Amino acid sequence: MLSRRTFLAAGGLALFSARDLFASAVHVPYFTTNPFTLGAASGDPSHDGAVIWTRLAPDPLNGGGVEPLPFAVRWEVADDEAMTRIVQRGTAVAEPALAHSVHVEVSGLRPDRWYWYRFDASGFMTPPARLRTLPLDNAAANRLRFVFASCQYWESGYYTAFRHMAEEDVDLVFHLGDYIYEGPARQGVVRPHIGGQLLTLDDYRGRYTQYKLDPNLQAAHRIAPWIVTWDDHEVANNYAADTSMRNDPRDQFLLRRAAAYQAYYEHMPLRRTSQPHGPDAQMYRSFTFGSLASFFVLDTRQYRSPQACGNGVKPVCDGIFDPNTTMMGSVQERWLLDGITSSRRKWNVIPQQVMMAPVDLQPGEGVVLSTDQWSGYDVARTRLLRFFDLEPGHNPVVLSGDIHNNWVNDLHVNFLDPRSPVVGTELVGTSITSGGDGSDMPDGMRPVLAENPFVKFHNDQRGYVRCIVTPQELRADFRVVPYVQREGAPIGTRESFVVEEGRPGAQRAGSS
Ligand code: FE
Ligand code: CA
Repeated sequence: MLSRRTFLAAGGLALFSARDLFASAVHVPYFTTNPFTLGAASGDPSHDGAVIWTRLAPDPLNGGGVEPLPFAVRWEVADDEAMTRIVQRGTAVAEPALAHSVHVEVSGLRPDRWYWYRFDASGFMTPPARLRTLPLDNAAANRLRFVFASCQYWESGYYTAFRHMAEEDVDLVFHLGDYIYEGPARQGVVRPHIGGQLLTLDDYRGRYTQYKLDPNLQAAHRIAPWIVTWDDHEVANNYAADTSMRNDPRDQFLLRRAAAYQAYYEHMPLRRTSQPHGPDAQMYRSFTFGSLASFFVLDTRQYRSPQACGNGVKPVCDGIFDPNTTMMGSVQERWLLDGITSSRRKWNVIPQQVMMAPVDLQPGEGVVLSTDQWSGYDVARTRLLRFFDLEPGHNPVVLSGDIHNNWVNDLHVNFLDPRSPVVGTELVGTSITSGGDGSDMPDGMRPVLAENPFVKFHNDQRGYVRCIVTPQELRADFRVVPYVQREGAPIGTRESFVVEEGRPGAQRAGSS
């Protein structure tokens, strides 16, 4: 067993302060193969730092291959890619209780600059990767580039889009959820999952391990800090707070949710403030990019009411208009509205999970909605849109994922009246792989789009969305690959839109 050979509790103890040694017996690892098989990542940047993440896993698909003891991992942050001008270094402890993951909250760096970091254990090192700090709150910022992505079903295809993302010149990467999928291995897929339906902590850990072994995903993590949030498949399809689609007993489902949340934390570059406590975890949080933009990252899974009228694509029913239902929970909702009200930034971007615009999926007579989206929570959505209307000038832009295709939607304050004011803009990004190759415009979509005049764009290929933000406009380039079921697809910009400052709603842009 590799795990037998990996442990050597001797030598090198001078690495630690006396306090560390008294606090716990931290061991210096000895590995005969690279323990950094899952790569490294940075995330949740601040003005003076960011989280840097890695995990020791020399034998990744056999539980990691590390003795269940705390091990030391060294890290360093440099001014240059060659890692010659080291500005900070330290030693972190990889604890077995967290699957030997390491989350270092680097601080004391200078604002608004790029740095490089790497980890080192037993002579093995991660390749230098980039992190950037954010501009100070009051600093003028004239340009921000970010990408957002979601939904990377392993079995549906290759992460070619991540390979191309790794070539983008961006400051931040947002991930809007479905980083893993919880389903069992299936036959006849591009590349099968390992194992069955995820239920236990070990199950979820194993799935993250499988996904994170992908070199294209690792490359995308190296380019910039990621700001992540989860959707449903990190736990179970279409769950709502403590309710699963299969109506598992509540206590049983919360144990599963706790396991899923912990494995997510263990594999993401998140701060300790997001570490789960049992089935609860603080995932909604905000970031500012100088005077230019605020980001309010939402969690629309943990606190929501159960979906109305039975979960799914359903004709409109009374439950959708139940005034007691919530999408964010009252605490998060208050936090969002207060945050936007007091934001003095030009743009207020809301990275979150599910589509906000009420797309009617039935051409002609009758209205059919997806009740897992904001459409199933009409009263909560209307509260937010009315707020946008009553508090103009904040330039709200909603980023969504979940449904594996691209959409650009104008957000009207009252969707029953298409002449009511547009109060915000929604950009729905397609999946990295989920849904397979797809096509530009599936059969049957044109009549749906004709039914929904607030939809400015639709496309059903895989990819991600690249945004360039200036004080004057937010530009979105819908980057798509023609296929994912084979490797090697090129990437292109299918369409670009701009949102002008002070003018909610998107307009088609010329090509860049
Ligand atoms: Fe998905
Ligand atoms: Ca209809």
